[in-house]
Amino acid sequence: MTHAPLMKTPEKADNAAEAFSARTNLVGMTREEMQAVLQPLGIEAFRARQIGDWIYKKGVTDFARMTNIAAPTRAILAEHFMVARAGIRQDKIALDTTRKWLLRYADGNEVETVFIPDPPRGTLCISSQVGCTLACTFCHTGTQRLVRNLTAAEIITQVLVAKDGLGEWGTPQSKAGAEVRAGRNLTNIVFMGMGEPLFNYDHVVKACKILMDEQGLAFSKRKITVSTSGVVPKIYSLADDANVNLAISLHAVTDELRNEIVPINRKYPIADLLEACRYYASKSQTRRIMFEYVMLAGVNDSEAEARDLVRLLKNIPSKVNLIPFNPWPGAPYQCSSNNRIHAFGRILMDAGLAAPIRRSRGQDILAACGQLKSLSELKKGQKVKL
Ligand code: SAH
Ligand code: SF4
Repeated sequence: MTHAPLMKTPEKADNAAEAFSARTNLVGMTREEMQAVLQPLGIEAFRARQIGDWIYKKGVTDFARMTNIAAPTRAILAEHFMVARAGIRQDKIALDTTRKWLLRYADGNEVETVFIPDPPRGTLCISSQVGCTLACTFCHTGTQRLVRNLTAAEIITQVLVAKDGLGEWGTPQSKAGAEVRAGRNLTNIVFMGMGEPLFNYDHVVKACKILMDEQGLAFSKRKITVSTSGVVPKIYSLADDANVNLAISLHAVTDELRNEIVPINRKYPIADLLEACRYYASKSQTRRIMFEYVMLAGVNDSEAEARDLVRLLKNIPSKVNLIPFNPWPGAPYQCSSNNRIHAFGRILMDAGLAAPIRRSRGQDILAACGQLKSLSELKKGQKVKL
């Protein structure tokens, strides 16, 4: 069998575009970093807390509105800093009220962010990279050529844009935001958008810290999930550095199949991956690891495979999330039948494993798992129909 290359060569790797402009963006800084940039300007450390409060609790972007800060200090702030958001290229609401934003960063690169209302919960699915260097065979993002890491600022801006749109600052900022507001607040964050978060480790961990800052966005670590295709060494690091919920894109029970459909398996095979999961679980006592399993007709959906999955997960506090395969233009797979998915799930449940079937959301606007792919790679001059 000939394999596709394990990783594509990033056109621009690890070089997240910094500047939104000449002024420094305060979004994406930890409180300590903010203090460090304020101090040389003679602004006291405690102001960082006040500014963080305006940015992350009230959604304010204009220093003039930061009324508990003296006017001369506000002027200094406005001269040196900004509170920037990414540009919004598209803002679509699906029939089932799933909402997808296509965001554009200063360098023209784009990512997608999806809000999935499920009252009383509301989950924002955020991206960690433009595209993805990996090439899982069932994933649309994996077919995108252009790849770069996002900065913590570019990750956090996705949350801020969503909160703007959902009217979560107390004053809805758009009509659409007001409409979708009732009872559907943003409660959970999942790194399940575009990209492999653990290939952008430092920025993702920093973004988690900003998300978890109690004086800011204040998401508890139980409300944040990082999903990985299995970057084993970084799973160990994440256990110590952020300890948020972990989701593993397993999708196969043998190395032979996983090597093919989740190519990073050739570097980090299943046994090593599960060993890392055991370590992670030992560090987060009460929480289970979520194993994602995409249902591909005739590929990984037999009852024997369900039984093998039970065996593999035996010593790990786990739950399995069965994901019906979401098609995209030109995809080489079909989704398993409903009967097959239920039969597979039944075997897991009979063995005592929680195995919910993930409902596909936002299909009509290509917002479901694995369907995200930005327009970044379109060649210059090529027409984009929006
Ligand atoms: N790169 C990370 C996170 C993003 S993908 C990862 O792979 O875990 C989020 C989830 O959607 C992963 O489990 C991924 O394998 C799954 N997925 C990708 N393409 C899919 C598709 N077409 N249908 C259903 N799930 C898909
Ligand atoms: Fe990348 Fe995840 Fe898609 Fe695989 S499934 S190509 S790791 S985004």
